[in-house]
Amino acid sequence: MTLETPLAKVLGPKTATGMADQLGLHTVRHLLRHYPRRYARRGEMARLDDLQPGDRVTVLAQVKTVSTRPMRQRRGTLTEVTVGDGASTMKLVFFSHRHARLAPGVWGMFAGTVGTYQGKLQFTHPDMHLLSGDDDDDDWARELVPIYPASKDVSSWVIQKSVKLLLGGAGNLADLVADPLPEEIRTRHALLSLPAALLDIHRPTTAQDVERAERRLKWDEALTLQLTLAARRRAAALEPGTARPRKAGGLLDAVDAALPFALTDGQRAVGEELAAELDRDQPMHRLLQGEVGSGKTVVALRAMAQVVDAGGQAALLAPTEVLAAQHARGIRALLGPLGRAGELDGDPAGTRVTLLTGSLKAAARREARAEVAEGRAGIVVGTHALLQEGVDFADLGLVVVDEQHRFGVEQRDALRAKGSRPPHVLVMTATPIPRTVAMTVYGDLEVSTLRQLPSGRGGVASSVVPVVEKPGWLDRAWERLREEVAAGRQAYVVCPRIGDLPGDEPEDADGAPPEEEGRSDRRPPLAVLDVAEALRAGPLAGLRLEVLHGRMTPEEKDGVMRAFADGATDVLVATTVVEVGVDVPNATVMVVMDADRFGVSQLHQLRGRVARGKHAGLCLLVSDAPTSSPTGQRLAAVAATSDGFELARLDLETRREGDVLGAAQSGRRSGIKLLSLLEDEELIAEARAEATALLATERGLADHPGLAAEVAALASDERAEWLEKA
Ligand code: ADP
Ligand code: MG
Repeated sequence: MTLETPLAKVLGPKTATGMADQLGLHTVRHLLRHYPRRYARRGEMARLDDLQPGDRVTVLAQVKTVSTRPMRQRRGTLTEVTVGDGASTMKLVFFSHRHARLAPGVWGMFAGTVGTYQGKLQFTHPDMHLLSGDDDDDDWARELVPIYPASKDVSSWVIQKSVKLLLGGAGNLADLVADPLPEEIRTRHALLSLPAALLDIHRPTTAQDVERAERRLKWDEALTLQLTLAARRRAAALEPGTARPRKAGGLLDAVDAALPFALTDGQRAVGEELAAELDRDQPMHRLLQGEVGSGKTVVALRAMAQVVDAGGQAALLAPTEVLAAQHARGIRALLGPLGRAGELDGDPAGTRVTLLTGSLKAAARREARAEVAEGRAGIVVGTHALLQEGVDFADLGLVVVDEQHRFGVEQRDALRAKGSRPPHVLVMTATPIPRTVAMTVYGDLEVSTLRQLPSGRGGVASSVVPVVEKPGWLDRAWERLREEVAAGRQAYVVCPRIGDLPGDEPEDADGAPPEEEGRSDRRPPLAVLDVAEALRAGPLAGLRLEVLHGRMTPEEKDGVMRAFADGATDVLVATTVVEVGVDVPNATVMVVMDADRFGVSQLHQLRGRVARGKHAGLCLLVSDAPTSSPTGQRLAAVAATSDGFELARLDLETRREGDVLGAAQSGRRSGIKLLSLLEDEELIAEARAEATALLATERGLADHPGLAAEVAALASDERAEWLEKA
């Protein structure tokens, strides 16, 4: 048996099939790395006396009576079992299930969620393990009984037994599992050997065993991931790119001359960094993160201009049509005649700014694609449509991805692949990234940060409007909005849903918090169309009010955005289509309806739409959640701080690692099971340093075949995932 031995060769065919199909476990390696979700403590095994409905517990009890009868409403049989632990009894109910060994007198462990039926406590379909008196009985006698992530056909007990078989069957686990970690690293960080850690995670004696085993196994995860990322960085550094040196007297100088403001120190510093990197023939791979409103666009535009001056093309990928159109408009306005080469009033020394989105009509699309393919378009702005086949660049020199959190690695790569040589890459995000995420999800990128907002910004004051507790505050909110409009400003009202269609889904559930228990019977979220109508007829009567949402055609959206940007509309009632990037400096108020239906980062993004000019802003988070509830407190936290990093951390707390890694990597398997992005910052940083050091040596991983195999296994799991999705 080796780590790569298929489980089918080791376990029975039925068990192996269930594990493969339902849990994705195919090899011995996979099963050994399938760790317990938690441990049931024998000493803390629940007493029947103490149970409360809703508890998720494991009890040790003896079967008293068993009775089976046909069900009245449905086909099949119902088996009722009474069990007792000496002090008290409870009922177990099984539908259409016969358990030959369930007989009076037998002891067993029963795990499930305590329910009630006719006032009595009961378990419905508990997980159970009957104690047979044969040799596996030491399993339940252990102090800590591992409880595994299980599935319909593969119970925790079956997994426990199968793992035991692997651990015991190998004779000496050390033969089966060579420790991939170099001795030196293990000693330096005081880590258990891998066989010892595997034994302890699956069959611990004390809680301390679990803790030490987990630390070691987290190290494996962190190191493998960091080695993969470090290898990617090194490979990228060896790719032959094209230097795009800065030239005087071209587009970049024209942009600088046309800017209506002075760059902030941060914009200047990052600009220098980018200019120098573009000048190298190694392709740049850089992440620019900066607070909402910190002015990332102009930094990107200056880099694009440098590339155009050097004879290349630059592509800007935006997540929505609204944003792509806004970028194109803004860049064209700034470049003036220099952006209209080939047109009557254009400057022949300039270039063209081409917008390429999915909604272009066939003829316009053909024309846009031709401009791109023939190199007439120096600056190409677009949405996903840029990634399509048939979009070819004459000489793609720089790819800029705006609002990276909306895109996965694959999209970044797809655009990169459109250059004949690897282009330089700049990805931008306004969602501040906690250090751990920067080291993992974005670990193959160098990071620049814009911390400073352009000076003269008014800042945004935020408050929660708890409509149940303070019904009068909502009226006051609409009054405030009217005051701003009277002073010449504009406002957004954001709702989670479009409306009109029955059961239409929230426009964008990205990063939304999980439904809280007990709140699933809530009314549907407020809808743009309903709210707009109510406001027109009520508190905002007489104001110029328009709606914006994802069901409108791109032309309609563009028209509404344009009117709002021109000041022809006072109030925009919208879904989260305004979340990213929308830039109307005269807008100062945002009212978010049903604010609790949005995620923390999303609220922060939304709030970033106001006070982008010199006027102070106001953001009101309207919610019917009680202020003392977790939801209410989450909103209060958003209102209390405008520090994006702080909020990113809060956001991370309300989501799971898998979601973060999964969303950002769009589905790639990360190999992360134990590592916590929230708690293991130090460990990840240490592993990153070790990985970088290992790969920096002449021989790389050549002297560490075990580590190389782990990295290869992660890569092949990733590929397997790919194949399944394709
Ligand atoms: P974000 O980083 O959120 O993408 P933008 O690039 O959209 O921010 O910039 C926000 C606003 O700030 C825009 O209206 C932009 O023109 C303006 N801006 C950018 N840099 C400066 C600066 N140095 N001084 C004043 N305003 C600036
Ligand atoms: Mg932006």
